[in-house]
Amino acid sequence: MNRDTQLRKGIYVEAEETARQRQFMNEVREINHQYETEHGKKKLYYIQTYGCQMNENDSERLAGMLTEMGFAEARVRDESHLIIFNTCCVREHAESKVYGHLGGLKKLKDENPDLIIAVCGCMMQQPEVVEHIKKSYRHVDIIFGTHNLHTFPELLYRVLATGKTVVDVWDSTGMIAEDLPIERKDGVKAWVTVMYGCNNFCSYCIVPYVRGRERSRSMESIINEVRMLGQQGYKEVTLLGQNVNSYGKDLNDGTSFAKLLYELNKIEQIERIRFTTSHPKDLSDELIYAIRDCNKVCKHLHLPVQAGSTKVLKEMNRKYTKEQYLDLVDRIRKNIPGIAITTDIIVGFPGETEEDFLDTLDVVEKVRFDSAFTFMYSKRTGTPAAKRPDQVPEEVKKERFERLLEVQNRISREINELLLGTTVEILVEGPSKNDINTFTGRTTTNKIVNFKGNRELMGKIVTVRIDKVQTFSLEGTLEETAEK
Ligand code: SF4
Repeated sequence: MNRDTQLRKGIYVEAEETARQRQFMNEVREINHQYETEHGKKKLYYIQTYGCQMNENDSERLAGMLTEMGFAEARVRDESHLIIFNTCCVREHAESKVYGHLGGLKKLKDENPDLIIAVCGCMMQQPEVVEHIKKSYRHVDIIFGTHNLHTFPELLYRVLATGKTVVDVWDSTGMIAEDLPIERKDGVKAWVTVMYGCNNFCSYCIVPYVRGRERSRSMESIINEVRMLGQQGYKEVTLLGQNVNSYGKDLNDGTSFAKLLYELNKIEQIERIRFTTSHPKDLSDELIYAIRDCNKVCKHLHLPVQAGSTKVLKEMNRKYTKEQYLDLVDRIRKNIPGIAITTDIIVGFPGETEEDFLDTLDVVEKVRFDSAFTFMYSKRTGTPAAKRPDQVPEEVKKERFERLLEVQNRISREINELLLGTTVEILVEGPSKNDINTFTGRTTTNKIVNFKGNRELMGKIVTVRIDKVQTFSLEGTLEETAEK
């Protein structure tokens, strides 16, 4: 069995593979060092990331490897020596954007043949996409997928050494390469991926096809990473996974997400622990008690309902009914009073009737979500729902979407209004985008609070009195800093 087959079957031990990739990093660093000596500056890279936080976290890994290989980040894309598109295929719109950008790079590559263009991420796990890029965008140098992100140093080295295009997309891997470098942009909050893939096959979603089955990282490696983040000064970690509630099930040793939370809660320097995303069918009482009992675990739960009608939920393959979802919310609120619950909702799923939609509005009114990400259903080629003949007309989807938004926005605002005049504790994240004297932080319930402050407050927990509320954020006045 050759190395690649072994790796694909997860036989190679992770440390061995990490060491192998480190060798390639050294080779590329040597090449880059020569460039730096000749030109008096480093080669530059630019990463364009699409999609979810897991993709953002993957890009941080790419950035870490690139820094290790002697690159520096470019401020402007067109000044770079290496451009990477880390793609997403959850929405077709994002895919078209990638093709547009790739087309636009042809001229740049003609002017500078040394420019290296790489594409990776979920889109590349679809063979037809890879074929299309190979045929229509011949100026692309490297194509790789989500399962072999860690082999990027090797692929880059091969391009630098041969000048030939490299396409390497693995179908799946049982392996998780640990201990590769990572470069995080934020100094206060860090994302930590705890598991990869998804086993659920919701009928509208492409993720299980492109990210593979669930694979959990070992508890030990996650604890070590979070401990290190604490030592580096990070105050908040967000644990990432497509369905964090089933973390550990594949390890078959009694590991669970709740147990992980209890362990992470012991790490001194970390003040706050968040996580996303939770599938309602897998949210156990054990986990509810862990959220309640762990003082650092934020009192916010993102619990995608997707639809209110039991019939639609069944067709979405969500494996819970409207009543089960409402019961779950009741159980959560009884155990953790004051917890904020947010959600994702899709309107216009194939076959959704007006009555089904009214069930969604009913759930929204009954649960009173703090906020919701709302989407109009859009076909995702390759998923069962896309093949259904009973697609909902666009104008009906739009009308339902607006009605849903109106109800949800009213509720979000009403919930925020309850905070007017109260004081809340927030972790200060940094200056706001529009005004350098205004700083932003979040409550444990994930509400954004803006206030007048200064840089010294970054990474600190402060108390703010809420003076003004809006639908999506709050404004306040600084009262005190809790020195931690
Ligand atoms: S739980 Fe469903 S929606 Fe979430 S990633 Fe898995 S298949 Fe997609």
